[in-house]
Amino acid sequence: MPPHNTAAPLSLSSLTVYASRIQAEVQFAPDVPRMSSPELIRQILAKYPHIADHACVNEYGERFADVMNHTSLAHVLEHMVIDAQVRMTQQALEQAAQQGIDVSQHKDTFVGTTEWINKAAGVARVQVSFADDLVALAAFRQATDFLNDLLQAETSESARS
Ligand SMILES: [Zn+2]
Repeated sequence: MPPHNTAAPLSLSSLTVYASRIQAEVQFAPDVPRMSSPELIRQILAKYPHIADHACVNEYGERFADVMNHTSLAHVLEHMVIDAQVRMTQQALEQAAQQGIDVSQHKDTFVGTTEWINKAAGVARVQVSFADDLVALAAFRQATDFLNDLLQAETSESARS
């Protein structure tokens, strides 16, 4: 048996804030699948229920649901980050509205792109727009942690069977 790999399945090797977008480089650990599976997506939908309805430019349709069961995990991460940003932004807006602040002009739709930099080496680039950079960074962290928890559970299960 090879020693258990304790490195996270996915890591954000760099995270750069630009004026209109945040760009992350996602590094896959060597033994981590590059692509999603219906089982993994089912578990993600339990916590990120809106990703299926996201607008998404892909070769099969206009929704993320059209590709989510068989797409790169970096693309899944992109939509999880957007979903987390929407959720965090809505919570902040509700709090602001309760304090009497006018939030009607606030933007709460986000867009993103994902591309492989080097698929063989497991390096992808994810870019998402943001309204608040701290919210976006927190969303990246939350989404990556959640995806890693699922991938680690999957790996230890297949090692047992
Ligand atoms: Zn997409």
